[in-house]
Amino acid sequence: MTTTQHTVSFLGLGEMGSTLARFALTAGHRTTVWNRSADKAAALVEAGARAASTPGDAVEAGELIVVCLFDHQSVHDVLDPIADRLAGRRLLNLTTTSPDGGRELARWAASVGVEYLDGGIMATPEMIGTPQSSVLYSGSQRLYDDYRQLLELWGEAEYFGDDAGMASLYDLALLSGMYVMFAGFFHGAAMVGAAGVPAKEFAVRAAAWLQNVVYVITEYAEIIDGGDYSLPGQQSLEFSDISDIVEASRSLGISTEVVDVVQRLIHRQIDAGHGKDGLPRAIESIKHPEAAA
Ligand code: NAP
Repeated sequence: MTTTQHTVSFLGLGEMGSTLARFALTAGHRTTVWNRSADKAAALVEAGARAASTPGDAVEAGELIVVCLFDHQSVHDVLDPIADRLAGRRLLNLTTTSPDGGRELARWAASVGVEYLDGGIMATPEMIGTPQSSVLYSGSQRLYDDYRQLLELWGEAEYFGDDAGMASLYDLALLSGMYVMFAGFFHGAAMVGAAGVPAKEFAVRAAAWLQNVVYVITEYAEIIDGGDYSLPGQQSLEFSDISDIVEASRSLGISTEVVDVVQRLIHRQIDAGHGKDGLPRAIESIKHPEAAA
C-alpha cells in the first residue's frame, strides 16, 4: 500500500501536540511546527520538522492544520488573528473542547472558509501509536477520509458523523465512566486503608474484581435500550441498596460522598415505587434530575 505524503502544520507542542507531530514527522509527512514558547519546537526541528515563527506562517506552510492547544479559548486566541490566512485550508482540532465548543469551532471555521474536523484523543501521550490508543472524530467526513492514513498513525480512528460535537460528546462520556470508576477505587482504598492496608495491595484485587464484573454493562445496556426494567433475572434496586457500604464507611471515619451519590440514585427510584425493578433503572435518576422517576 502506498502512503500519501501530506504537508501538515502543528499548532501547539505541549505533551500531546509534540507527540502527534513526532509521529507525523517520523512517518515522512512534511511537518511544520509552531508553539507559543518556541523552545518546545527544538527537538522536532532537530528531527527534521520545519519551525514556523508565527501561527500564520505555520498555516501557510500546511494543507492540513492540526491544532492541539490547551482549551477552546486558546484555539480562538491563536486562530482568530489569522482567520484570513486560514481560508481554503483544512483544520483538525484535537484540543479537548465541550460538544458545544466543537460545534462553535465548526461554525467559526465555516464562516472563514475552512473545512473542520474535531477530534477527541482517548490516550495519554505515552499511549499514542499503540494499540491502546484511539481517537474519535466528527465533522467533515471528506477531511477524515482524505487523511485517514495519517490519523491511524496516532491510534485507532473512528468517525462519528458530521455533527462536530459528537467526538467530544463520546470523549467526555467515556471520561465520566473513567473518573467515577477511579473515585470508586479511591473510596475502596480509603476503606481498607483505614485498617492499615496499603492502596497498592488493594489495587491488585480491585483491578481483578472490576475486570470480572465489567461484562455486565453490556447486559445493562440491553435493558436500558429495551426500556423494560422489570424483565426477570435482574438484580433489583432493593437488593442493590448500599446502606452497608455507607454505614461501614461512616464507622471508619471516612467520607461517604462517593457512595452517597450511588445510594441516592438507587433510592430515588425505590422511593418512586420501583424497588422491584432492576438496578439499570438507576439511569432514570440521572436522565431526570428533578423528577423522582
Ligand atoms: P500541555 O502540555 O499543557 O500543552 C498545552 C499547549 O497549549 C502548549 O503548547 C501551550 O503553549 C499551549 N497554549 C496554552 N494556552 C495558549 C494560548 N492562549 N495561546 C497559545 N498557546 C497556548 O497540554 P497537552 O497535554 O499537550 O494537551 C493538549 C490538549 O490535548 C488539551 O486540550 C488536552 O485536554 C488534550 N489531551 C491531552 C491528553 C494528555 O494525556 N496529555 C489526553 C487527551 C487529550 P506553551 O508551551 O507556550 O505554554
